[in-house]
Amino acid sequence: MNKEIYEDILNIISQESKVFEKEPMSKHTSFKIGGPADIYIIAKRLEDIEKILEYVNKNKIELTIVGNGTNLLIKDNGIRGITLKPELDNLKINENTGIATVGSGITLTFLAQKLLKKELTGFEFASGIPGTIGGAIKMNAGAHGREMKDVVISTKYITLDGEIKEIDNQLHKFEYRRSVFEDEKGIILETKLKLEKGNFDEIKNIMTEYANYRKSSQPLEFPSAGSTFKRGNGFITAKLIDECGLKGYNVGGAEVSEKHAGFIINKGKATAEEVLKLIGIIKQKVKEKFGYDIQLEIKIIGE
Ligand SMILES: Cc1cc2nc3c(=O)[nH]c(=O)nc-3n(C[C@H](O)[C@H](O)[C@H](O)COP(=O)(O)OP(=O)(O)OC[C@H]3O[C@@H](n4cnc5c(N)ncnc54)[C@H](O)[C@@H]3O)c2cc1C
Repeated sequence: MNKEIYEDILNIISQESKVFEKEPMSKHTSFKIGGPADIYIIAKRLEDIEKILEYVNKNKIELTIVGNGTNLLIKDNGIRGITLKPELDNLKINENTGIATVGSGITLTFLAQKLLKKELTGFEFASGIPGTIGGAIKMNAGAHGREMKDVVISTKYITLDGEIKEIDNQLHKFEYRRSVFEDEKGIILETKLKLEKGNFDEIKNIMTEYANYRKSSQPLEFPSAGSTFKRGNGFITAKLIDECGLKGYNVGGAEVSEKHAGFIINKGKATAEEVLKLIGIIKQKVKEKFGYDIQLEIKIIGE
């Protein structure tokens, strides 16, 4: 069955896009965890995405969308059906208007460097977030007091039925680490952002300051998916985890970072099962000591 799907996909997509069979998702997540995707596709063109949607609808195949895999815990038995990474890399920056039109596969770090070169300010906050524009829009990614909500003009996406739509900022329903795309199961294609005219050295200094802050406060030397839990309503989750004495606590290769209690790190060969067990323990300890039900920021997918 998978072989058949693999060959069908190979026949319908362009040569720029790629398809893999039984692809270990540990190769495509920042956690370096995740079993095989039956079929994994990196789609470079809109037409390929349209054809894949038509194919999955016709054949009733399960479809999972991933970006750079930096906010994901993929389970050890992997993902059934088709896993699609849209890697649209179109980019147009108008330095006069400050408007950037960005394909959803572009990474935030790459975009931040391009905007720096054009001396456009307002995106420095995202320069150290390792995801793509698609993932950042869905998650309303943010740092240093700003989030995607502050820079988005509009987003173009394709519904699972193949209809292309465009929504303005308001319709994204941006909230803390969520957007309308939690409910609207479309594929984000492209986003328009609004930046302001700035000064090269000032932008660069801010980006360097943020990068240094990250290096000193986050365990960037280990694989992770960033902050495991969301910030709480009126409390800082990482602080509560620390106060439970959980820094350095581990289940197999999954460990609460000594450097930042909000991060679970992969010390080598962690499995998703170990991470999930550790998440359960953290939740339970925080509930017992403080009475709060803490919420996951990372997304868990697969079997
Ligand atoms: C070291 C580290 C530091 C981090 N720091 C921050 C931080 O400061 N702030 C922050 O907000 N996050 C942070 N993150 C988390 C993560 O980088 C962000 O959530 C990022 O926006 C996820 O983007 P992604 O492309 O990796 O998406 P993925 O993790 O691959 O996917 C996330 C979600 O977006 C969906 N998705 C992805 N692309 C598309 C698309 N084109 N269309 C529709 N849906 C899509 C997926 O289905 C999934 O539900 C950090 C992660 C790491 C590893």
